[in-house]
Amino acid sequence: MTFRSNLHTHSTFCDGKADMEDFVKTAIDKRFVSLGFSSHGPQSFDPHCCLKKERTQEYIEKIDSLKQKYSGSIEIYAGIEKDFYGNEIDFPTDYVIGAVHYVEIEGGYYCIDRDQQELDNAVKAAGGIEQVVELYYDTIIRCVESKPDILAHIDMIKMYGGHYFSGQEKWYRQMVCTAINSMEDVITEVNTGGIYRGYINSLYPDDFILKHMAERQIPITLSSDAHQTSALDGYYDKALEIIKNAGFRSIKIMQGGGFTDQEL
Ligand SMILES: [Zn+2]
Ligand SMILES: [Zn+2]
Repeated sequence: MTFRSNLHTHSTFCDGKADMEDFVKTAIDKRFVSLGFSSHGPQSFDPHCCLKKERTQEYIEKIDSLKQKYSGSIEIYAGIEKDFYGNEIDFPTDYVIGAVHYVEIEGGYYCIDRDQQELDNAVKAAGGIEQVVELYYDTIIRCVESKPDILAHIDMIKMYGGHYFSGQEKWYRQMVCTAINSMEDVITEVNTGGIYRGYINSLYPDDFILKHMAERQIPITLSSDAHQTSALDGYYDKALEIIKNAGFRSIKIMQGGGFTDQEL
């Protein structure tokens, strides 16, 4: 089977490398049903990778014009990837991806996916990796409670945290399970971005988390966190196999203005 949608894409409006229209053309070539744009929402304390606040109107207008221009060929949606600590989004979108890219330690924000040094700094400030991981999954729970439509890359802490833990430790799995047990109907994404770009050797989430989520019947969708057009369905085929083997029978796809189930 194939999955012909991606709601997690970054264009040149934030830290992506491709123009929005190029994403649309590639998606049409791949016979996608739907495509969503999800720039990092504007925020003040770390603005470099985000959509600029003064460009939000242009962002929405550009997506609207693409919706109209390609209405006979593909469904296009306006989304946003809203960091839990990003509080400067005051415009309506078709959907919101909730994400955690920072932990807050004594009033300072430490990015957990920028580089090893920044995670190491967080570990020092918090007093150990277990403290940072606990803060991270606590923030994931608070992000879920804010009720985004989709929860992004649930275990992204492993990208640089992998230097400290394997993911099989009891303490780590307990924290993960507590987070999963707090989830009900927020759709969680299976994100191929980390493995496709070679940063890590598993999907977000890893096999253990996926199996636990399947047992609890947490709804999922699939995306690649594409920053360039070539990544639009990167690693999708293999991911679908892994998802099926984890015990899922269906996956959510955006179609006709809402999410519907696609059988696996
Ligand atoms: Zn993200
Ligand atoms: Zn992203």
